[in-house]
Amino acid sequence: MFSKKIIASLATAAALTGAGFLTTNEIAPQTFSAQEVKAGSINDYIANQGIQPVSIQFREGTFNEWFGYENGVGKPEGVVVHETADPNATAENEVSYFNNYWESIQTYVHAFVDSSEIINIHSADYGVWGAGPTANSKYIQVELCEEHTTDAFARSVANDAYYVAYRLHQYGLPVEYGKTVVSHDQVSKMYGETDHTDPTGYFANWGYSMEQFVQLVQKYYNQMGGSNTNSGSNSGTNSNTNTGTNNGGVTSNSSEGTVKVTNPASFMAPLVGFNTNGSTTSSNRGLANDTDWYTDQSRDYNGHRYYRVSTNEWVIDTYATFTAK
Ligand SMILES: [Zn+2]
Repeated sequence: MFSKKIIASLATAAALTGAGFLTTNEIAPQTFSAQEVKAGSINDYIANQGIQPVSIQFREGTFNEWFGYENGVGKPEGVVVHETADPNATAENEVSYFNNYWESIQTYVHAFVDSSEIINIHSADYGVWGAGPTANSKYIQVELCEEHTTDAFARSVANDAYYVAYRLHQYGLPVEYGKTVVSHDQVSKMYGETDHTDPTGYFANWGYSMEQFVQLVQKYYNQMGGSNTNSGSNSGTNSNTNTGTNNGGVTSNSSEGTVKVTNPASFMAPLVGFNTNGSTTSSNRGLANDTDWYTDQSRDYNGHRYYRVSTNEWVIDTYATFTAK
C-alpha cells in the first residue's frame, strides 16, 4: 500500500500511456459471490475452475534510480507482497500513476498485478522504493490491485502468486514464508520503518490469508521445475573481500572485444561505476538494447563480470554478451 492521495484521477493518466503492447487475456466476466466460494477455498476455486496465470509483461518504467541490493546487483533475497488499498485502480492505472509521480511520492515497485495483467516495470536485479530502506535493500516488491468479485480476486491472486514464484525461481530462492515471501505487514513488524499492514486485511475480506497465498506460490514454483541453482550465491552474499590491492581486491583484466547489449526487462541496459573501495555505484545512463560496444577491460564483482565501455562505466554480464577481438 502507498499514498492514496491522487489515485482518484487515474483515468486520464492511463490514456496517455496506453499505447504499446497489452496482452489480451480477456476473461469472460463471471460473477460469484463470496458466499458461493466458501472462505478459505480460493486456492481450490483456482484449481477447480482451471484458472491459469497470465504472462508477465515486461515494460520499461520511468524509475531511474538504479541501485543494487545489499548483496549486490541481481541478488534479491525474496519478494514483498503488497496490496494497493485502492478499490478503483487497475494495474494499468497504477503503472501510469507511478511512472508519472514516483519522484513526488518517492515510491516505486517492480510490478503491479490485477485479475488480467501482470506488468513488470523495473528490472528485479535492482531495488525499488516500496517498503522502507531495509526492505528495499533486500526484496523485490509487487503490488496486488483490488478486485470486486470472487472470480476476479481468485484470478488476481493466481497472477500475483505466479509472479512471486517466477522471481524466486529465477533467482534460485526457495519458497519460505516470512523469509523469501513476506507481506508488507511482516516487513513493518520486522524492521519498524513503515506502519502498513497490507495485504492482510484485504486478504481477510475474501477469507484468504498469506499462508494460503504462499501455498499457491509453492504450487506454481513446483511447476517451474523444482529447485533452481543459485548462480554465484556463495560469493554474492559476502561483501567483496580485499586481497590486499587498493582497489578492493577486484582485478581488472585487459580483454579487448565487443559486448552486445540486451536487457529483456527494459529498452536499455543500465551502467554502473566502481568506487575506489570496489563497490558499484549506479549511473543514470544506459546502453540501448541490441547495440554493440567496444570494451577494453573486464572485472569480476559479486559473482558477475562487468565490461568497461567508458572510463568508469561498466555493463554487467547479465545484459552483455562478450566477443573477444
Ligand atoms: Zn504495502
